[in-house]
Order: sequence, then C-alpha cells, then structure tokens
Amino acid sequence: SLAGRLQETMKKIRGKGKVSEADVKQMAREVRLALLEADVNFKVVKSFVSRIQERAVGQEVLKSLTPGQQVIKVVQEELANLMGGDQTKLNFALKPPTVILFVGLQGAGKTTSAAKLANFIRKANNKKPMMIAADVYRPAAIKQLQTLGGQLNIPVFTLGDKVSPVEIVRQGIEQAKAEHNDLILIDTAGRLHVDDVLMDELEQIKAVSHPDEIFLVVDAMTGQDAVNVASSFNDRLDLTGVIMTKLDGDTRGGAALSIRSVTGTPIKFVGMGEKMDAIEPFHPDRMASRILGMGDVLSLIEKAQATVDEEKAREMERKLRSVSFTLDDFLDQIGQVRKMGPLDDLLAMMPGANKFKGMKNMQIDEKKIDQVEAIIRSMTPMEKNDPDIINSSRRKRIALGSGTSIADVNRLLKQFKDMKKMMKQFMGKTKGKKRNNPFN
Ligand code: GDP
Ligand code: MG
Repeated sequence: SLAGRLQETMKKIRGKGKVSEADVKQMAREVRLALLEADVNFKVVKSFVSRIQERAVGQEVLKSLTPGQQVIKVVQEELANLMGGDQTKLNFALKPPTVILFVGLQGAGKTTSAAKLANFIRKANNKKPMMIAADVYRPAAIKQLQTLGGQLNIPVFTLGDKVSPVEIVRQGIEQAKAEHNDLILIDTAGRLHVDDVLMDELEQIKAVSHPDEIFLVVDAMTGQDAVNVASSFNDRLDLTGVIMTKLDGDTRGGAALSIRSVTGTPIKFVGMGEKMDAIEPFHPDRMASRILGMGDVLSLIEKAQATVDEEKAREMERKLRSVSFTLDDFLDQIGQVRKMGPLDDLLAMMPGANKFKGMKNMQIDEKKIDQVEAIIRSMTPMEKNDPDIINSSRRKRIALGSGTSIADVNRLLKQFKDMKKMMKQFMGKTKGKKRNNPFN
C-alpha cells in the first residue's frame, strides 16, 4: 500500500543523525515510486518530489539537530499540501436552503454521514436541517434514516418506496422551503459497483435539487479502490467534496492522498465511528501524520523545539557526558518539560497513546512532579551539588520545608542516584565506540 511504502521509506531515514544528499535522493526516489504506483498523477508526483528534495537538502534540514526527523517533517508538510493544505470550508447557499447531496457505494456510510453532518452543521452553523430519504431500493434504508432522525430530533422527509427518488427529492425540497428548513441533506441509494443506471438517477437528482455540495462518501478501508470510485463519480457528478468514513478502523487512510490529487476534490469530513457525534472536519496535516504512521508526533517535536532552549540543551548534553549532572540540573529539566504544557497533553500526542488511555500506570501524576520540585527547592545549594551529604537530620529538614515526608525525600534521592549510576554505565559502554555515541 502507499502508506506502507512511505512508512518503510521514512523508517530508514528517521533515526539518522546525519542526512546526506544521497540519502535524500534515495528517499525521494522511493517516495516517487510509491506515489506513482498509487496512481497519483505524474505531474503531481514530479512537483511533489522536487519540492521535498529542494527543502530536504536545504538549510532547514542540514542545520537542525535531528536531520532525520526534519526530513520527515518536510515530507509530512508537503503531503498535507497535497491533500489540500488548510481544511476547506462548507459551501452554503447565498439564498437558503443549502442543499447537500450524499452519493457513494452501498455501505460506504452515506445514511450515517448524512445524519451526523446534519447534526454537526446544526450545532456549528446554527441551521435548521431536514433530511430527505431518497434511497428506495434498500428495504430498510428509509427506516434507518428515520431512526437516526428520531434520535437527533431532525425531521425526515419520505414518500415511501413506491415513488421515484427524483420525485421524492423535488417534493422534499418544496416541503423544506415551506417549513423554513435552511439545510437539506439528501440520502441516496448506493450500488455495489459504479453503474450507469445509478449515475443517471443521481444526475437527475442533481438536476432537480441544485446542490451546493455533492459529497462522495467513501469507506477508508477500501484503500486505493476508493480512488477509482471517486474518479467515476467525479466524472459524472462534479463532486464538491469527499467524506471519508471508518477512519476509526486500522486503515492508515493512504487513499486520502490520491483522491485529492487524482480528482482534485477535497476531503471535507472524516467519520471516526458509528456514533452520531463521530464526525470531524478533515485536517490534512493530521492525515499526513497518520499516513506516515506518526500520530501527532510532529507537533510534539515542534512544541519541543519551540520551548527547549537550544543552548541549555547543549549544556545539559555536556553535563550528561561528564556526569556532572546535579539535582539543580534535574530541576531545570523538569522546568523545560513543563514549559511544553501539561504532561497529559504531551502523552496524548505520542503515537499509539490512545491505547494507554485509561491504563492507570501510564498516567503521569502531576502531583508527584510538584513534589519532586518542592523537595529539590528545599535543599541548599551545597546539598544539591553533593546529595551524599544529605544525612538524616537534613532529610528531616527538607521534608518539613517541602511539605513532604522523609520517605518521599528518600525515594527521590534514591531515584536520582540510580539515574546517575545508569548514566555512568551508559557513558562507559559507549566510550570506546564513538560512532554509536548519540552525543557525537
Ligand atoms: P450507506 O449504505 O452508504 O448508507 O451506509 P450506512 O450509513 O448504512 O453505513 C454502513 C455501516 O457503516 C453502518 O453499520 C454504519 O454504522 C457504519 N459506519 C458508517 N460510518 C462509520 C464510521 O465512520 N465508522 C464506523 N466504525 N462505522 C461507520
Ligand atoms: Mg444508506
């Protein structure tokens, strides 16, 4: 798959402390092949690859401390651009009602998405929606929309399944106007495959309803097949947007990339579950990260880069190397991490973090960190530089001063000692093998 290939390529470059021009060339070649194999238009690929190449060998990467990660960041940003840069807005009718037509294959999620979006826009844009049940082919389709409408308290227009969908839509719009509904969502029938009968019907529905948006609903799990489906629908109906559903599944959503570049149609929303609130506006940057399999790790890197003082980082590095790392430095480091924001937020951005949600021992206890800070602040400079002098009467004083217990102070001192011991061992091991020393 496209996502799989890109991830392989990125894996190779991720850990690199130095990235040569040859590395970038190799990476660009692989990205190019992956995109071409995924049917992305060759002109798009060409300009995409030359852009990342230009940026990757440029100053912004070579000067950075972590070139491997920077290259990935460049690829990620350009992927986001390829999917449409900033998220696109909904197109509302100048003269209400706004009409949104939902089309797509059977099971893609049209009915569900129509109801979700009706609910979403009602809240976000203060609209009064009505849904039209124009799928007369699937026995339970009308009932399904009525059930969802009932749950959300949104009216559903139906004439049963004996009237033609085109007639249902025509009358539905009249009714909506009469009842001052300023947002109309039309749920249509799907087929298992694209066929002319279906397309003819959709063209007629389009002709009577003059939609402001025609959304193709595609199942993200269908992968590259979604691209062909999107092309066929776009050729006949001139889509204005795509809703990609079932992104809550395992899929990486690589199809998102090609859909935009092949059809020129932006993805506007993504479905993230079966519940009615599981719909979100599409964020190209998040999708790019997802395609590269990084969670939101890039925003984490950015955050860290913006807040951690580079000079300080280098100084810390020097100290780590000489193992002259003191409790003061430790405190400093805590401060640096804190500047990035609440630890829970940081954790949430880590790839795979949602797996840990609810697992108690994965949660970082901010109170504990407060405690560590208080303890260290209650020490004298001499104690901080040389914790070995902290005898039992000093421990008692520190505990009192920091509002903690002697056991807390003992624990911290032991942790610090263990940490230093580990550093020493680490440094000792890497001394002989310069090439593997991460600080070189
Ligand atoms: P339609 O045939 O295109 O109208 O598809 P439906 O709206 O009936 O959806 C088909 C199935 O996919 C239903 O079981 C939905 O609950 C499910 N579904 C739709 N969107 C999503 C989504 O974003 N995530 C998940 N997990 N399921 C979805
Ligand atoms: Mg349906």
